[in-house]
Amino acid sequence: MRVTRKNRESVNVTSLVLEPTDGQPLTAALPGSYRVAAATNVDAPALLRSYSLSGEPSEDCYRVSIKREPTASLAPYIDSEVRLATSSTRAHRAAASR
Ligand SMILES: Cc1cc2nc3c(=O)[nH]c(=O)nc-3n(C[C@H](O)[C@H](O)[C@H](O)COP(=O)(O)OP(=O)(O)OC[C@H]3O[C@@H](n4cnc5c(N)ncnc54)[C@H](O)[C@@H]3O)c2cc1C
Repeated sequence: MRVTRKNRESVNVTSLVLEPTDGQPLTAALPGSYRVAAATNVDAPALLRSYSLSGEPSEDCYRVSIKREPTASLAPYIDSEVRLATSSTRAHRAAASR
């Protein structure tokens, strides 16, 4: 999955829109569905976090909305460092399981 949109919803909530990199349709989500995101860095073990899907059901993309706590580890990173997927920002790509 790659991040194709990033929206600041409020002072401490950021939404990411994730689209598949393989072009295949996604499983349309049911109410209450969540996905597990893995943040990888070559120097540290992957951080796994669950996020509820916050967008309309879609086979094209998933949206997650992430609340940032000041002392948390991954949410502040997502808020400040995750960039939209382009050839120069692949290192910051968030991978999510289907
Ligand atoms: C099924 C499911 C669905 C979920 N859906 C969502 C969702 O839609 N949106 C969402 O934002 N989250 C969701 N979560 C929670 C999410 O998976 C993460 O747990 C959450 O975002 C915190 O991750 P983090 O790495 O930012 O914080 P972590 O680093 O894991 O910290 C967790 C908490 O501990 C506190 N903490 C961390 N370090 C310290 C310290 N040294 N001293 C004191 N306190 C500390 C942080 O302030 C934070 O409140 C969901 C979880 C589950 C299980």
